[in-house]
Amino acid sequence: MQEKVMENIKTLVKLQEAEQEIIRLNSVLADFKKEKKKIGAELSEFEVELNIDKDKLEEIKSLCSESEKEIQLLLDRIKKSNENLRLVKTNKEYQALKREIDDNTKRKITLEDELFEYTEQKEEYEKKIDELENDFNQLSEKINSEKKDIDNQSKGDLALLEKYQSKIKKIGDNLDPVIFEQFKIIAKMNNGEAVAQGKNEVCMGCFMNIPPQLFIEVQRGDKLIKCPQCSRFLFYKEENTV
Ligand SMILES: [Zn+2]
Repeated sequence: MQEKVMENIKTLVKLQEAEQEIIRLNSVLADFKKEKKKIGAELSEFEVELNIDKDKLEEIKSLCSESEKEIQLLLDRIKKSNENLRLVKTNKEYQALKREIDDNTKRKITLEDELFEYTEQKEEYEKKIDELENDFNQLSEKINSEKKDIDNQSKGDLALLEKYQSKIKKIGDNLDPVIFEQFKIIAKMNNGEAVAQGKNEVCMGCFMNIPPQLFIEVQRGDKLIKCPQCSRFLFYKEENTV
């Protein structure tokens, strides 16, 4: 191959190597990002569950306080009725008051049973929430440290990414701007690959046939030739040379 064309091919191969590293690093960094999001979601889900239990506890607490209030109200009424018992004049009034006291006492007993149940539930939830909060704090600590690890790992890859990006720019600055622009487009189309060997009239990039006349031009190496199928820059090398 002519020296100039060979030089361009070598430059394009260097660009291609850097471009493929960039693609690889971007994919690694995207995976890190995904992983961070995933473990973050795990913590959020836990928090949602925890908040459901906390809401339930608040509900039970308010039921307790309503029962307590009503019990107190009934106690006051019973006390008042008992005081009035001493003041009644007729048997009818006495019976009516007595019935009222009985009814209120029954209602009070029912409420006390309910309150007992609510209190038990409240204690259960308090215990459960206590445990869950403990687990949540542990998980949160674990996840934060995992996130930090991921960030630390990403740092190295981010630095490498910058290195390859500036390498591409540096190489590109010394390349014919038209070829550099073509490289960018072709690399984008072929997952970073912009150069392919032409062998036995076949493009080793896309494995499609190269028309014989075009293949002769590739072998001659007077100018850069692109594969008609995949647009990769084609180069030819003698089989017994490196
Ligand atoms: Zn091709």
